[in-house]
Amino acid sequence: MRVSLPVLVSAMGAVLLWIVFSATAALLFMVLVLLMVMAYRAQQVYKLGQWLQDARLETIPEADGIWDDVFSQLYKMVKKHNQTKQELAAELHHIEQATAALPEGVAILNEVNRIEWFNPLSAQHFCLKPGQDILQDITYLVRQPEFIEYLHKSNFTEPLVMRHSRHDDMVLSIKLVAYGGDKRLLISSDITQLERIETMRRDFVANVSHELRTPLTVVNGFVETLQDMPDLSHDKMQHALHLMAGQTRRMDSLVSDLLTLSRLESSQTPLHVESVDMRKMLDELLQDGKLLSAGRHQFSMAFSGPGNLSGNRDELHSAFGNLVSNAVRYTPDGGAIALAWEVRGECPTFSVQDSGIGVEAEHLPRLTERFYRVDLSRSRATGGTGLGLAIVKHIAMRHQAHLEIVSAVGKGSTFMLVFEGQAAGQ
Ligand code: ADP
Repeated sequence: MRVSLPVLVSAMGAVLLWIVFSATAALLFMVLVLLMVMAYRAQQVYKLGQWLQDARLETIPEADGIWDDVFSQLYKMVKKHNQTKQELAAELHHIEQATAALPEGVAILNEVNRIEWFNPLSAQHFCLKPGQDILQDITYLVRQPEFIEYLHKSNFTEPLVMRHSRHDDMVLSIKLVAYGGDKRLLISSDITQLERIETMRRDFVANVSHELRTPLTVVNGFVETLQDMPDLSHDKMQHALHLMAGQTRRMDSLVSDLLTLSRLESSQTPLHVESVDMRKMLDELLQDGKLLSAGRHQFSMAFSGPGNLSGNRDELHSAFGNLVSNAVRYTPDGGAIALAWEVRGECPTFSVQDSGIGVEAEHLPRLTERFYRVDLSRSRATGGTGLGLAIVKHIAMRHQAHLEIVSAVGKGSTFMLVFEGQAAGQ
């Protein structure tokens, strides 16, 4: 109606002119009207063309009549389009944030192994550069032969475990998942920690088996000898039984240390805290040390720390006792051993200083590892299980304390348990 109305009115005017004047006048009038209409439309079309070159909401042209409708429809369309664009951008940002937070690396590969997209963790795992490596062939960027072989397999049920190409100590588990016809998701996760735990578990089982095998072999040997030679002299029999008892004691202390360790490591074992009388504790430790030393060492004791300590009496006795027993076992006859309970800095500290064989600096960080010994034969000969300091470390952790070691080869060592959790002012 709005388009044809002006033309209809003009046509009626032309008919009136025809009746009143002449056909020529009517025709001229009509041509003039049509030219004006065309000029107006051409102007609006030009404005539309100009605007379309940079279609922004705020620059949309204004017009009258039918063109007002056209432009306002366009205005609505552009507004809706902008809104959808903003919603999609927000959604995309959301997905990007979610994929960045994924604990796994994810990359999309096309049918010819070119990378279409990857998240930041995938970039870390495969040393990919965001932007630059999009649409690159992944086999040019990750060149480990096992990876390339895995990529060309058709069955991906088993993940591939491989080392990071640049960081040799990082272990990755890689899995491919086919989707959308010929695309593939490359999922990677860092399993370094898991691998480390698995290696530790394997080493631990191997160590325990090895530790038990030696005394078992000795006992077995004696049992077989006794069976084969029933008329062995009394003295020889006694000697064999004495050695067997030594070996079974060794197995017993190993098993009991293992049980202590596993109880301490278990999160289900709560710490029964009590107020421990430290004067009594140090007196007991001194007596135990002297008994173990059997007069081979000079003992001294200093006591200036707090009279009571919050903690578990039995666990603390076991930790302190281990340090004293080590001092006795690793100090040659005639050496000196000094026990002390004092405040160092702000922290109550128990220390055992000896004038023994000492430990080379390179071994110090590893002393608290299970079964780590500087000198295996010396440890065994003195009845060591290699678990003592591991137990000390665990007990220290349960009491918010830490173990500090100062040592010099041939001069002696000081093992300190620093109770920073019970520092003055805490
Ligand atoms: P072990 O049963 O072998 O003594 P520990 O865990 O108690 O096991 O100690 C680990 C290692 O630390 C020992 O094998 C020994 O080499 C070293 N060590 C511990 N205490 C001392 C010490 N006082 N002097 C020298 N070396 C020590």
